[in-house]
Amino acid sequence: MPLVSTVIVTGASSGVGLYATKSLIARGWHVVMACRDLAKASRAAESLELPAEQYTLSHLDLGVQASVRAFVADFLASGRELNALVNNAAVYKPRLTEPARSIEGYEMSVATNHLGHFLLSRLLMDTLQQTKSARVITLGTVTANAEEFGGKVPIPAPADLGELEGLEKGFRAPIAMIDGKPFKPGKAYKDSKLCNMIISRELHRRFHDRTGIVFNTLYPGCVADTALFRDTPAAFQRIFPWFQKNITKGYVTQELSGDRVAQVVADDAFAQSGVHWSWGNRQNGRAAFAQPLTAKAQQVTRAARLWTLSEQMVGLPPSE
Ligand code: NAP
Repeated sequence: MPLVSTVIVTGASSGVGLYATKSLIARGWHVVMACRDLAKASRAAESLELPAEQYTLSHLDLGVQASVRAFVADFLASGRELNALVNNAAVYKPRLTEPARSIEGYEMSVATNHLGHFLLSRLLMDTLQQTKSARVITLGTVTANAEEFGGKVPIPAPADLGELEGLEKGFRAPIAMIDGKPFKPGKAYKDSKLCNMIISRELHRRFHDRTGIVFNTLYPGCVADTALFRDTPAAFQRIFPWFQKNITKGYVTQELSGDRVAQVVADDAFAQSGVHWSWGNRQNGRAAFAQPLTAKAQQVTRAARLWTLSEQMVGLPPSE
């Protein structure tokens, strides 16, 4: 058995994923930095002076299904064991007036954040189950969890998958929203994150007892100054971090958010499966706790239908 544990981190070129990489390396892990822009990822790793022997750069564009398949083929060819997968990458394009679309024709934030990670997780399941107590950790968010204040904010609308009407109709143009309603780019992001949280629970339900793999989501805190907000108005980018630091006090540094991800990946205290971990959204210094998820993330029949439709959209054979 190798002495060094290996983790794949998607979107490790920036923000939470980059600092999770740093923290996991500090814990002795080898990190496969799965990124769409390898030159940027390389610069980011060098800027933090990450030790070159403890990370590998590997190309992955989650918005392109062929790229996800090629990434997995490359990883399997490397012969490495896999101890953990961190589904971290995301796009947030709140100012689009028309939906951007993936090569497959799907609205881009759902294609990248949900479908890309769904395909990646499924293709790595066989490899993960060969390792004792492997973990699949997915970034959720407060704004997609109606159990919390942040999930109730109606700007532009709370996350809501409806009855999956848009997916049922194939999710290609002119359809751009999972619920089949008119395009709202900010809501498309929240919906994709709700899918992330639903699918993590569904993976837990289908695979945990059989394989021992641990499936969890987490909210790392409000990391208000990452590049996630690069497409918001300039004034928002100035005010939002100030507001989170001084008014809500929910602001978390990129370094701390990355360390929280690393804790959930590596620490014994996070060995339970099927949990949404949070440190709250108001004060720092609070211990991690299991945050209840919105009922929308726990409707078993809809979760199973989302699973089936997602399989169809990424070209996987139907599960039994
Ligand atoms: P970020 O700095 O923008 O990082 C996002 C990462 O995803 C970047 O490395 C980006 O690559 C990558 N990415 C985007 N599209 C991709 C694609 N098609 N294929 C592969 N990689 C892609 O944002 P962040 O704030 O760290 O967000 C990381 C995660 O934390 C997200 O899942 C987000 O939902 C979650 N989260 C963030 C906050 C927050 O307050 N920031 C709060 C809750 C949850 P490029 O560098 O090439 O763009």
